[in-house]
This record gives sequence, structure tokens and C-alpha cells, in this order.
Amino acid sequence: MNQSMFIQSGEWAIISKHRVLVTYLKSLKFRILLVLVLLSWIPMLLIASSILGTHQERALKARETEVQNQCRILANQLVSYNYLRDPSSEPINVELTQISNLYDGRIIIIDQNFRVIKDTYGLIDNKLVVSEEVILCFKGETSTQLSNNRFIEMTVPVQEANSQKVIGVILISVSTDSIRNDVDILMGNSLRFLLVYGILVLMLAVFLSHLLARPVKRIVLALQNIAEGHSDEDLDVKTYTETARISEEFNKIITQMRVLDQSRQEFVSNVSHELKTPITSMKVLADSLLVQEEVPVELYQEFMRDIADEIERENKIITDLLALVKMDKKAATLNIEPVDINDLLELILKRLRPIASKKNIEMVLESFRPVTAEVDEGRLTLAFTNLVENAIKYNKENGWVHISLDADHKFFYIKVMDSGIGIPEEAMDYIFERFYRVDKSHSNEIDGTGLGLAITRSAVLVHKGAIKVSSQVGEGTTFSLRIPLIYIA
Ligand code: ADP
Repeated sequence: MNQSMFIQSGEWAIISKHRVLVTYLKSLKFRILLVLVLLSWIPMLLIASSILGTHQERALKARETEVQNQCRILANQLVSYNYLRDPSSEPINVELTQISNLYDGRIIIIDQNFRVIKDTYGLIDNKLVVSEEVILCFKGETSTQLSNNRFIEMTVPVQEANSQKVIGVILISVSTDSIRNDVDILMGNSLRFLLVYGILVLMLAVFLSHLLARPVKRIVLALQNIAEGHSDEDLDVKTYTETARISEEFNKIITQMRVLDQSRQEFVSNVSHELKTPITSMKVLADSLLVQEEVPVELYQEFMRDIADEIERENKIITDLLALVKMDKKAATLNIEPVDINDLLELILKRLRPIASKKNIEMVLESFRPVTAEVDEGRLTLAFTNLVENAIKYNKENGWVHISLDADHKFFYIKVMDSGIGIPEEAMDYIFERFYRVDKSHSNEIDGTGLGLAITRSAVLVHKGAIKVSSQVGEGTTFSLRIPLIYIA
């Protein structure tokens, strides 16, 4: 067996963990959490790092000024003790040691001849120091620089009291370790504070993200319940404007679905009923033949004719049902092409003339202009046939059926008028419904399934057209159709 085809249970665990993580990262809850955390952490980190930076800069500047001042005082003392000529002065040496200890640094005193007369480290006594800074200092330019970020190095001139002549240079280098230690301690404290702050913010953000995303979670749960069939209640999450809108729109869809479901149930029960009626009649006819002995042939023939009629009726219902189902399919199945409507109507009339002549009904087609339209010929043939057929069926002996065709630049118009029995006012709203027949008593005399007008309306609507009816009981009925010349998808 191929091992690689099977995923081990451990791998499944990893895959499902990965899915859970991806789902969480994509969730609204996580996005809210992220925004809250970033909005609180980033400013805090920026403030902390800027405070620390400024603090270090200021401390270095202050140290620089302080050392400079100390050196100036020292330079004056060097002159007054004539230290440059006699570096054995005890008070000055003690002070030099004190200053260098205080700043953890080194002081070098150089005389006019660039000779070191005092090095607190005792490393370069009596040596010559001819560096750029020293030369510049003798010319009156002091220098201060930060070396390796660890030392402040500066030169301070020693000037004669009255002539201001530079007679020596103090070269001092002081450590900045203590400042950096301070900053480190401050940084440690800040980090501890930021950590506590960060954890508190995170906890608050987790709580808030949970709270803010809760309405959305409620919607998801409610939808899940409905989808799984545990509930069919309306959605009612009004916490935010958006969730209120979602609830509202969703409830509209649910209401539509309920109506659809109800009409589907009604349709199924109507279909079953309509299909059962001919079968029940056939059963009654067949049973009555079976229970009798010695049935005369004439009776057999009569009953068999009735059974054949019922079969015909059943067949008609099924054909109409199939046509209706086909009509109800969406526009994608339409077969749109240019059709000569005048020819189409003439053909329909030709086909129906034999039925009309049985009742001696006169049929007239009045066409005001030639009309060609982009339509589905099959569907419209069915629609027009039903209307003309009804006009004949529900007509009187020697009556008339008048069909007119006209058009403007956008639509073509068809009217089917008859001199028939008419439709009562109260039935007008229902005649387009499936299986509806005005008067069940006349339905026995006039053949029909109650599906014809439903088929017609479907065909007209799928062409984005309109259908209207007006009628007067005992006088006649007019069906008016308006269909676009160019098919609108
Ligand atoms: P049916 O198969 O019964 O003709 P339809 O859907 O075509 O079904 O029509 C529904 C009902 O509307 C008919 O049963 C009939 O009562 C009424 N009806 C339709 N067309 C006409 C008409 N031209 N004149 C009078 N009644 C009509």
C-alpha cells in the first residue's frame, strides 16, 4: 500500500492547528486586537526611546560643561601656583588626583614646549605631545570630542593672567561610563514599565476585541443555527448600525424563503391533487367494469373512452407542468433570435382555426405594421397559443376572437380580445396562478389544467415584458401584452 497516500494522525493535528491559527489571524477579533495593541504600544515605545535618547544627550552635555568649568578653574590655579614651571605643588597635584578620580579620567598638563609636565596616569611624563588639538589649543581654539562614545576628550588653554597668552594646555579625558550606567538603569526601569504596560494593554485589548467582535459572533452563530435547521427565528443583532443592517437584510431573505417554501409546498400539493384526479376517475371506471359480470360491449367501449379521456387529461397536465418548469428556468436557457411576429401569430391562428370553427368562432388578426423582435420563439409561441386557445375555449357559439399586433420603437403590443364568458372581478387576481381555474363547475365542461396563464406570464416576464387583463362577465375578455423588441439581458 502506498504510504504517502495516508496522512498520519500527527500530521492531521498539525494541519488542523495550522487552520485554527489561520482562521484566528483572519478574524475580526484578531484585527481589532492588533489595532488596539499597536496603537498603544508604538507611541509608548517611541516616547520611551526618545526620552532615553534626550536624557543621555543632556547628561553628556552637562558633564562636558562641568568638566570644562573645572578645567578653567584648574587652569587659573595652575597659573597662580606657577605649576608649569614647578609641577611639584602639592595642593595642585592633590586636586589633579581628585578631579581625575572624580570623573574616572586622566589629566595631562603640557607646557609651552609641548612637553608633558604632569600625567595623572604617570605614563608619558616628560614626553612631547604634538597633536593637532594641542597645537590648535595653543592658538586659542579649544576642542571637545566624544571618543568611542565612552570618553569625553577636551583641551583647555592655560593663559597668563594679564597677557592672556597661552602658556600651557590641559588635556583631559573623562569617562562617560557613569552616564551610560544611569541610562542603562533608566532603560531597565523603562523596559520593566513597558513590559507591565504592554501586558496590561494586551489583556485589555483581548477583552475589548472579544467584546467588540461579539455581535458578529452572535450573527455567525444565529446563521449557523438557521443553516443547520435548529432555528428559523429572525436575526436580531442591533448592537451596531452594520449588524442591524445585516439582520434587517437577512430577515428579508428569510421571509422571501419562507414565502417560496410555502408556495413550493402548495405547488407540490396542487400537482399531486391534479394528477390524482384523473387516476381516481380511471380507477372508479375500471372498478365498476370489474365488479359487474357479463358487461355489454357498448358499456365497455363507453368506459374505455372515458378512461382514454382521463389519460389524455393526465397527459395534458404533465405536458403543461413540464412546460411550466422549463419556463421557470432562468434567462440563461433562452434561445433568443429575431422572429417575425406577424408570421408567428398567423401560424398560431392557422393551427387553432379547426378548434374555433367547431364553435363557429370567427378569428381575425389585425396587424398594424410588420414586427420583428428578438425573442425566444418557442416560449412565446406557447404563451400566445395559450391566450388564443383560452379566447376560443371560454367563448360562446358563433362568437369572435380578435387579435391585434402593433409596435413602437421599443416594444411590440399584442391584444387578444374575445366575446366570451368573461372573468369575474374577484377571480382576476388569481387567474395567473398555477392550477387556478375560475369556476370549477365549468372546468368539467371546458378542458384545462389551470396552468396555461401561468406559463404565459412566465414567458412574458422572462422577456422583461408585461401582461394585463380586463374583462366583463358575459361580454368578453382582453389580454394585453407588451414585450421589448430588443431582448434586455
Ligand atoms: P385553463 O387550463 O383552465 O384554461 P389557464 O391558466 O389558461 O387555465 O386559465 C385560468 C383560468 O382563467 C381559466 O380556468 C378560466 O377560468 C380563466 N380564463 C382564462 N382565459 C379566459 C378567457 N379568455 N375568458 C374567460 N376566462 C378565462
